[in-house]
Formats: sequence, C-alpha cells, structure tokens
Amino acid sequence: MPLTSPDADPLPASIRDDFPVLGRSIDGVRLTYLDSAATSLKPRAVIDEVSRYYTDVGASIHRGKHMLSEEASDQYERVRQATAAFLGCRPSEVVFVANTTHALNLLALGLGLSRDDIVICARDAHHSQLLPWRAVARVELVELDATGAVDLDHYRHLLRRRPRVVALTHCSNVTGLLTPVARMASMARDAGALSVLDAAQSAPHRQLRPHRLGVDFMAFSGHKMLGPTGIGVLFVSDGQTERLRPAELGGGTVDWVGADGHELRRPPHRFEAGTPNIAGVYGLGAALAYLQRLGMAAVEQHDLLMAHALRAEVSRRSYLRLVGTSSGERSGIASLAIPGHDDLSDVAHVLSDAHGVMCRTGHLCAQPMVDRFTAGQVLRVSAYVYNTVPEVRAAFDALDATCASLGVDVERAPED
Ligand code: PMP
Repeated sequence: MPLTSPDADPLPASIRDDFPVLGRSIDGVRLTYLDSAATSLKPRAVIDEVSRYYTDVGASIHRGKHMLSEEASDQYERVRQATAAFLGCRPSEVVFVANTTHALNLLALGLGLSRDDIVICARDAHHSQLLPWRAVARVELVELDATGAVDLDHYRHLLRRRPRVVALTHCSNVTGLLTPVARMASMARDAGALSVLDAAQSAPHRQLRPHRLGVDFMAFSGHKMLGPTGIGVLFVSDGQTERLRPAELGGGTVDWVGADGHELRRPPHRFEAGTPNIAGVYGLGAALAYLQRLGMAAVEQHDLLMAHALRAEVSRRSYLRLVGTSSGERSGIASLAIPGHDDLSDVAHVLSDAHGVMCRTGHLCAQPMVDRFTAGQVLRVSAYVYNTVPEVRAAFDALDATCASLGVDVERAPED
C-alpha cells in the first residue's frame, strides 16, 4: 500500500473526537499532540472505565467475600484474561505492575544475579532498562552502527562471554527503529542466556506475541497505549516462573504465613504484592478493547504511515538532522538534532506556546544513545493513532517558523 497519501490511512480522523484533550486550544490555536512516546492521550472510554471503578465499585480485590469485592476481583481477572488474549499467552503469564520501569526492576532484582554476571543491553536502552541491570550485574553494551541499527556482529561477539541475561529494546524511544527481536532472542537462547524485552514503545503499535518472539520476559506500560498511568504488564513465560524470585513480598503474594515461614501463591499472584492499581487495570482493559476495535493491523499500518510522513518532512529540511537513518522498520518516532543548537528547550517552548504543538526535548532518558549521535539535546516528535499526515506537515511548518524566530538558518543550503 502506498504510504505517502493520507488516503492510505486505515484509521479515520474522526477517532480524534474520542480524545477529550484534543478538544483543547491554546489562545485559539488547536492543540497538536506529538509526544505519545512519552505518554499517549486517553480516549473517553478509558476515562469512563476508571471513573466507573471509583463510582460504582470502589472495593479491593481478592480479599473480601462481599459483593463489591467479588465484582472488582472478577473484573480484575477478566482484564488479565483479555491481556493474555491480546498477547497470545496464558493468564498465569500476565503480571500487573506499575509500569515498564517497575517490571524491569522486578526482573533485575528477582533473577538471582551477582555482580560478576554479565547482562547484555544495547546502546539504545532506555535508562529504565540500563540502570536496574547495572545495579546488580556487569552490563555490556551492544554498539549501534552509524545508522542507529544494532550491530549484530558485535552482539554475536558479546554472546561468547556467556551472559546470564540479554535485555533487548524492541523499539528505540529515540529513533523509533525496531530491533530484530526474534533473531536476537534465539541467539541468546543458543548462548544459554535468558531474554528480556522492553516493549514499552512497540506494544502500543504492534500486535506482540512474546511466545512467537521467543522471549522469556517482556515489559510494557499501559499509559503509552491509551491506558491510565500507573499500570503496566510484565509477561513471565510459564517456563521461567520458578526462576524468578518475587522481589517484593506482602499481602496477596502468599497462601500461608506461619511464625517463621510462608508459602508463595501460584504465579502470577506471587509477583503482585500489596493492593494493586485496580482502577488502572479497569482502564487498561478499556484501552485494550479500544485498540482491538481499531484493529492492531490498522494501528500498525497507521504507525508506518506516521513513520513515513515524519521521515519525509525531516528529509525536506537541511537544517534538521535525523538521529538514526537506518532504512529498517521504524515506528512513528523521529528525534532531530539541529547542528549548532545544543539546547532545544526554547524550541519546544515556542512550538507549544505559539503553535500548540507538544513534543519533547532533551536526552529522552536514553543518554548513552543520544550522546552517541549528537553533542546536545534532540527534539522528539512522536505520533499515535489520533495524529494525521496533514497534522504532521503543519507541525513541521510550525517548527520552521519557530526555529526561524529563534535565529536558526532554516533556509540553509542542503549539505552534500
Ligand atoms: N523503555 C522505553 C523504551 C521507554 O520509552 C520508556 C518510557 N519513556 C520506558 C522504558 C519506561 O516506561 P515507564 O516510564 O512507563 O516505566
């Protein structure tokens, strides 16, 4: 399908009406939200479902036998089943956590690693992936090539060092480039390592099947895929549940507690300590249902269209440098450097306040990655289901006007 024409978009622009925030304007200028890699906007159906929990139910789960508690428990477990169906796995493999960061910390703390153990990450790792592993083991970084793609020869070389864990990032939150996960997880398995997938940026846009990808563990956040904040998912493959020690203990994790011992509940409950984010689980259920109504194939196609539109706009402007130029598969995320302008916070401010365009600047919690490609900050533009091609074009026109007003030479002749 040609991806240059807005007609190719499988998602109707009318879905924008489902997102109340998009109804806002700033001094009469309609708001353009291009910061979905940080967090997505929420459709009315999700907001209503969170509100329904607090308005109509309100009780805790798995603790009481009263009607409200049973209703909450049933819905909590129904959403677990729906999440498992979404991922093509068993409900026992779905652990509700706070977010991707929480999930990765539970793994780093629970896999019994010692300081001398090697964990392989790639340089595109988010700090939420890098730092938990660094706190418990020796992290070796797989390098990226000049286009931002993972260097598979270097990966092969590092695997010879017998790592215990390979911690992969499915989609870089800086470049939007996707990693060949199935291939890398299979290489990890052959090397005797466990594989962990940070799917924070891929789960919103792709139909993920952890068993097909061949990963042992996978983490993602509800808030980047239309769900509420404070709820995420840790997939723990049934084959690995006994290897993972619960890093947090307390109410909900045990079947029996004696004066000096306890018996853990079966997975996944042993990994969910304390009263969970019940409203968040309700909201996650509504978010997954919303995505399924759109159809994940259409969501993916729309994402490819956004990726194409972003790249096309950048390539028309010689004053912008795209971080990660690989021709490999990418998601609708583009990070831009402006040579000679290391601090881009003014650009983000003016874009927001004068043009209503919301996007992110900085090192994007992936500093080893950003530092590899540019001396200063980057400006990240990231799209989701509610963005359109005309909107992306208008946002880049606004970027031209913003940069010109801040003294950037936007008419600069193209470099060779
Ligand atoms: N990994 C990646 C690739 C991310 O983009 C993010 C969020 N920016 C995270 C992990 C952390 O997600 P959260 O803040 O929801 O825990």
